[in-house]
Amino acid sequence: MRAARLTGPGTLDLVEVPTPEIGPEDVLLAVGAVGACHSDLHILDAPAGAFPTPLTLGHEIAGRVERLGEAVTGWRPGEAAAVYGILGCGQCRACLRGQENRCRTVPLGGIGLSRDGGLADYVAVPASRLLKLGDLDLVQAAPLTDAGLTPYHAIELARPALRPGTCCVVIGIGGLGHMAVQILAATTAVTVIAVDSDAAALDLATRLGARHAVPAGPDTVDRIRALTGPAPDGADVVIDCVGVDATLETARQVVATGGHLSLVGLGGGTLAVRPSVAASIPLEASVRVPFWGTRAELQEVIALAAAGLLHADVRRFPLDEAVRAYQLLRRGEIHGRAVIVL
Ligand code: NAD
Ligand code: ZN
Ligand code: ZN
Repeated sequence: MRAARLTGPGTLDLVEVPTPEIGPEDVLLAVGAVGACHSDLHILDAPAGAFPTPLTLGHEIAGRVERLGEAVTGWRPGEAAAVYGILGCGQCRACLRGQENRCRTVPLGGIGLSRDGGLADYVAVPASRLLKLGDLDLVQAAPLTDAGLTPYHAIELARPALRPGTCCVVIGIGGLGHMAVQILAATTAVTVIAVDSDAAALDLATRLGARHAVPAGPDTVDRIRALTGPAPDGADVVIDCVGVDATLETARQVVATGGHLSLVGLGGGTLAVRPSVAASIPLEASVRVPFWGTRAELQEVIALAAAGLLHADVRRFPLDEAVRAYQLLRRGEIHGRAVIVL
């Protein structure tokens, strides 16, 4: 079968590999669609040894059941499934509570992170990782598993602060951010302020329900402050889906006293929470560092999509153009989500 594999730092190769074997509790999935996440670029940029190689990338996967391991029940060949990508230990306190994204034993365990992912004709996954999709389109479903799930989880963590009439700033309206705007629109009554450096991303945010669109630039903080009011007021919640120095600084400067900062993006920037008492983040503010989400939350994200309330803005690529899709993503030329369709 074909697979797009990380073979060393910065190198993604389309190669022929054997179709994976499955164990008794696994399912062999015929991959239908895989979202190209910005995290894959971080994986490509990571130093040698940070991730196993060779590694088939792709952690936003939807497909159809091809073959069942002998102990698997509840699935039949041809059925459509989304892959919950996290592989927790299943035994620690967090995993036992269904919070595998907080596993205390396995750091960053995941399909397409610690073992072969979905950028291939087939992927082997434990049956426990599959969720039913019914008749949801696979190309729509793939981005739900991360671009949808991660902001959904971030919004769940922030939910106590997202009272009707409050204000949420979403920074970075790409794959994750454009889903965040829709999840806020569908599940809260907050005013959404979208921030991006790209005009087309801001247009998309406005179409999806953001009340205000603020270009990223030298006056971003002033423009947001004009909407939220001066400190100690401000944004009740800020979800930063970029995570570079500039966006973290914007987030710090616009969050209200008692507000909630959600650091989703992994752009490599630094946020000093309290470099000094005078320069602290606002009093009573909290900072969360969400990671992906839970299996139960993914089921809720799928339900939102099935109800017509969440729709990925998708640009399709065949597998042999996966490398090009990531090049365009790196250049900021993808709007919404690039999805590799098999
Ligand atoms: P993306 O490339 O699809 O979107 C990024 C968006 O940010 C684009 O619209 C871009 O124009 C905008 N942007 C870039 N620099 C900006 C700046 N300085 N100011 C304002 N806007 C800016 O990326 P994505 O796939 O949505 O991922 C976003 C980030 O989230 C990545 O760092 C990714 O690794 C991370 N991520 C984290 C988790 C998690 O569990 N915490 C999960 C998935 C992705
Ligand atoms: Zn991802
Ligand atoms: Zn665990």
